Amino acid sequence: MSGQDGVITLVVTGASGDLFERLLLPGLAGLLAVRPEHRIRLVGTGRSELSDEEWREQVGAAFDEESRTREAESFLLENTEWVQADPSEADQLREVLGRAEGRLVLYLALPPAVSIKVCQALRELDLPEDFKIVAEKPFGTDAESAAQLNEELHTLVGEEDIHRVDHFLALPATLDLLGLRLANRLFAQVWSGVHVESVDIVYDETLGLEGRAGFYDGTGALVDMVQSHLLQVLAMVAMEPPARVDAVDLRDQMAHALRATSVWDDDPVASSRRGRYTAGSVDGRELPSYVEEEDVDPSLETETYAEITCRVDTERWAGVPFRLRSGKALAENRNEVRLTLRPTAHRTPGLEGTGGPETLLIDLKTGHLTLQLATNGTGEPFELERSTLTGAVGETRMKPYGEVLNAAFEDDARLSVRGDVAVRCWEIIAPVREAWAAGEVPMQDYAAGSDGPS
Ligand code: NDP
Repeated sequence: MSGQDGVITLVVTGASGDLFERLLLPGLAGLLAVRPEHRIRLVGTGRSELSDEEWREQVGAAFDEESRTREAESFLLENTEWVQADPSEADQLREVLGRAEGRLVLYLALPPAVSIKVCQALRELDLPEDFKIVAEKPFGTDAESAAQLNEELHTLVGEEDIHRVDHFLALPATLDLLGLRLANRLFAQVWSGVHVESVDIVYDETLGLEGRAGFYDGTGALVDMVQSHLLQVLAMVAMEPPARVDAVDLRDQMAHALRATSVWDDDPVASSRRGRYTAGSVDGRELPSYVEEEDVDPSLETETYAEITCRVDTERWAGVPFRLRSGKALAENRNEVRLTLRPTAHRTPGLEGTGGPETLLIDLKTGHLTLQLATNGTGEPFELERSTLTGAVGETRMKPYGEVLNAAFEDDARLSVRGDVAVRCWEIIAPVREAWAAGEVPMQDYAAGSDGPS
């Protein structure tokens, strides 16, 4: 094993899982291509029996031939191993962490209940001084368990050494929101309820369950998407400008915005909708009803569509509805933040029509901007038309999970969810969950491939 300075050992618990294979490993490969100075030793661990050969093959598959010849990538490929262990057992975890060299970053890519057990096991170990824990969302399963996870984590390391992952914070659009609203006079001026009538944060997918009942069934769209990701985006839209874009000020302002956020009118019944897809066709693919998907337990009443309206009780946003929505098996992929502006205070006589509401739309996946405005278009000279200005943002330098890992390696907490915020996001949706559990909001069926519940 190499003893080079600056080496970071990334220990991934739960590395036999879907997250590691589908998101973390490609993220790591993308990161090394952009930041070749990183020297990463990768230790995968879990209870699964994997031969060294199988592990190396899996890791190697994330790198193409050209990248394997580069220094950072070949270092990683020479310095990786699988250690079979149950990370919730202190003795076994000690053995795994003993393989580390240089700085240790421990990634908990585990179901939340197992992450707590791993933290308890860590308490029995002598941990190195320079030690960082990366915890995957969801952080707990409700406000109480999130607070408990925070407590467990804080017995091990300080808040500055905990990196709670929400990869939506590393999406180009979420980052774009900072520049857009903080560095442009045009948008800085209109960024409030004086000018903005409503905000929609939408994450619609054409994908159905895709065989992931083990994770999704019993979790559902409200917890999986709204509670974690969409509330983080809301915080970026609604926060006051931070004094500096650093980990302290930025996260203070996001926390402040979320403390001011609650369900519209404190009425979770009138302010939420839930739905579940029935059989239908999406993009030419036939999907069964959600309840007939493999391993789904219909008695869990899991929703595949969730919508809530929130208010943000600050001077800036008083009276502006923030609608958060996410669904599976819908007609199209729509992933966007949409700000709809109020009509002008005065309608100049002589101009016909309206041109529709002015909207600013930010594509969450690509960061592309679309501005829809009323203009005198190409038709009748004095009749307003709707014009669309689009701005494509260039290719992002790496995938969100690459940014997340980079931030963990570089001690940059700006893209990490602070502990109090993790708890607060559960508190915001708690009244909705209660109303749904009590059957006060009906589960609406929608056909796969449709626009969702009518
Ligand atoms: P998995 O359900 O695939 O679990 C990951 C690994 O955890 C398993 O391979 C298993 O490894 C280990 N594990 C599971 N149950 C136990 C247990 N009871 N005791 C000890 N180990 C256990 O999860 P994912 O990989 O899908 O996700 C990991 C984390 O990341 C979760 O918190 C998830 O919410 C989050 N996440 C996942 C995303 C995804 O797309 N997959 C997206 C965003 C977040 P072994 O059997 O080898 O011990």
